[in-house]
Amino acid sequence: MNIVLGAGLTGLSVAFHLVKQGKRVIILEKTDRTGGQIRTIEKDGFVFETGPNTGVISNPETAELLRTLHPNCVTQVADPSSSCRLIWKNGKFHALPSGIIGGITTPLFSLQDKLRIIGEPFRRRGNDPNESVGALAVRRLGRSFLDYAVDPFVSGIYAGDPMRLVTRHALPKLYNLEHTYGSFIRGAVTIGLSGFKNARSKGVTKEIFSVRGGLSQLTNSLADAIGRENIILSADSILLERSEDRWRVSFASPSGRFDLNAGRVITTLGAHALSPLLPFAPEVEMNKIARLRYAPVVQISIGIRNIGKRNFRAFGGLVPSCEHQDVLGVLFPSACFNGRAPEGGMLFSLFAGGIKNPHMVELSDREIENLAIQTFHQMLGFPPDVEPDLLHISRHQNAIPQYESDTGERLSAVNTLQNRFRGLTIAGNLRDGISIADRIRQGASLIS
Ligand SMILES: Cc1cc2nc3c(=O)[nH]c(=O)nc-3n(C[C@H](O)[C@H](O)[C@H](O)COP(=O)(O)OP(=O)(O)OC[C@H]3O[C@@H](n4cnc5c(N)ncnc54)[C@H](O)[C@@H]3O)c2cc1C
Repeated sequence: MNIVLGAGLTGLSVAFHLVKQGKRVIILEKTDRTGGQIRTIEKDGFVFETGPNTGVISNPETAELLRTLHPNCVTQVADPSSSCRLIWKNGKFHALPSGIIGGITTPLFSLQDKLRIIGEPFRRRGNDPNESVGALAVRRLGRSFLDYAVDPFVSGIYAGDPMRLVTRHALPKLYNLEHTYGSFIRGAVTIGLSGFKNARSKGVTKEIFSVRGGLSQLTNSLADAIGRENIILSADSILLERSEDRWRVSFASPSGRFDLNAGRVITTLGAHALSPLLPFAPEVEMNKIARLRYAPVVQISIGIRNIGKRNFRAFGGLVPSCEHQDVLGVLFPSACFNGRAPEGGMLFSLFAGGIKNPHMVELSDREIENLAIQTFHQMLGFPPDVEPDLLHISRHQNAIPQYESDTGERLSAVNTLQNRFRGLTIAGNLRDGISIADRIRQGASLIS
């Protein structure tokens, strides 16, 4: 028997693959629902996410899972207009350029850096394996590219600080472009010419996706396929003990305290939740794992029933930290996917906080609402007499793990514990990437 701890996307994904292999699985989940950080709510004609809004079909495992779950879970690919990304500068949004003309005319980057980019393919390769994303960006592209492209991009994914995230761990594809091909531009062109065709044959389209009815439909379909009878919700005070070559897993539930025996236990919880479950693990190793920092994030869904003649045809807008605003960015989910807002209306998903502004999650509802309304008027351009029809606040204290300079030590502690305690797998987004596609891939990789 296999016991999976946590019914977020990782736990559901690994359990789904184990069940497909004919193995017996029980998931123990602390809360009274499946999905973890993924949660879709339907209210007043709006369908909104309180956590992640979109995934990317960036690996074969994600493509395969979406195919397998169809038609219980129907993939929605984002409208082509979502290729437009907006960046806030000097009081307004500007489109992030994608072509040469846009690259020359954009006000986002300095003239010096625009000229400098021509030399990027000829710049020397870095030799610091722990170089931060920020340092790498300045070295290869220039300061204005860090400020108005890389910093907001990193905010959008990690709600993190580019000067602290280690490229090799946080953005391994970017790291490999430089280390394999010597340059971002050369690497992107080479992959574009050779690798993309191969990836496409495995269904890797790089498209942005959600699913009809919202991302909870994805986790609900996984839970249905695993079998709801194999998922124990409201399982509290879980404790693992090694007895001979098996694991004894005890937990409390509303109907009493129970013990299960398993050959294998897979944890998918955050690093902050692991220590009490594994009292037998040496403190020195546990500390290396528990030290992982998480960015706290506040997400606010804003809905409006009638946008008049306003146009929001883009994925959304990101706000560079050098612009000193209280928001990290605002996504336009209803511009990307049908069925998120009433006809003629619009749904926005606003993010604030992050590793640089952790205090934002502590603000009162009233203060967060004021921020949302201010953003609605000043950033999204609605006149002062127009009010949103929907405001919904979600706080995530431990939202996004930061793959910073302690990552190497954490990964080696995970390996040490896994080697020492047979049948224990420490998974989840404390390693192997934070995105939805990374979580699905990790789930598929843990079946042997
Ligand atoms: C606000 C926000 C926005 C995001 N946006 C995006 C995005 O747009 N695109 C993207 O690709 N990724 C995004 N992410 C990241 C992505 O959502 C996560 O990495 C992913 O959902 C994590 O899944 P998981 O199963 O590893 O962890 P979780 O979803 O955290 O699941 C862990 C589960 O373990 C349970 N648990 C905790 N402690 C215990 C315990 N002691 N015993 C039993 N169970 C326990 C929890 O209740 C939870 O259900 C976002 C994350 C957040 C928070």
